[in-house]
Amino acid sequence: MSNKVHLGHTARKRFGQNFLTDSNIINRIVGAISPDNEHVMVEIGPGLAALTEPVAESIDKLTVVELDRDLVERLKQHPVLKDKLEIHQGDALQFDFSQLMQPGKKMKVFGNLPYNISTPLMFHLFEYAEQIASMHFMLQKEVVLRLSASPGTKAYGRLTVMAQYYCQVIPVLEVPPESFTPPPKVDSAVVRLVPFAEKPYPCDDIKQLQHVTSTAFNMRRKTLRNNLKGLFSDEEFSRLNIDASLRPEQVSVEQYVALANLLASKNS
Ligand code: SAM
Repeated sequence: MSNKVHLGHTARKRFGQNFLTDSNIINRIVGAISPDNEHVMVEIGPGLAALTEPVAESIDKLTVVELDRDLVERLKQHPVLKDKLEIHQGDALQFDFSQLMQPGKKMKVFGNLPYNISTPLMFHLFEYAEQIASMHFMLQKEVVLRLSASPGTKAYGRLTVMAQYYCQVIPVLEVPPESFTPPPKVDSAVVRLVPFAEKPYPCDDIKQLQHVTSTAFNMRRKTLRNNLKGLFSDEEFSRLNIDASLRPEQVSVEQYVALANLLASKNS
């Protein structure tokens, strides 16, 4: 039997709309999210409610952020969901997630993200990491590989360092294009991001970590010394026990944090 459903909505490319239609995959994602009433449950981009319905089934309230006004209207009229949903129409990239906080509760955030904005959206959500218990996102498989990459590999980059600074990164499952309508051009994967209660390598000034990583990865083929020229002397690299002849992808999260902390101390 086909597990594809009739959508009754024309997918909008500019909103990154690829709707999940594979019930087996949907069940596995909902199982991974593990919805409950002890957390503020938040979905980004509910779309036609493929994940929204099964998640809302077992909980009292679900907050959703959806950009597409037509889809928001559909959700408002949804016979089962309408009493359980708190709907915010707007851009998740601009959304102030702290307004959803309730005393003593952290958020569980999830979504089959529009791939065109997934990286900036994760950067936006990292700002709320202390208020988040877990995030489950459907992403391009390539982005999940970048999030979970180890130093010294091709996939290791600025996104890796920032994600692994804030979170434990756990790939959950791979999802083929046929699981969506319309099918995306790329393979997809679901990742679980669990923000650290206590960061393994605390950073004194997150702006400096952002600055150091974006400067370091500016030219991947250049050495750390060349990319970070003007920020650190050779003497400072050796004081931190960091080999300045390394390429940016060979430098660990711990070492990037050490560089950021040194920069913060120099600027204070
Ligand atoms: N959750 C649905 C599913 O799994 O079938 C839809 C997923 S679809 C890949 C992405 C959803 O995010 C769409 O509903 C789209 O309208 C919405 N969206 C796109 N850009 C958005 C943004 N900036 N803020 C909030 N939602 C957005």
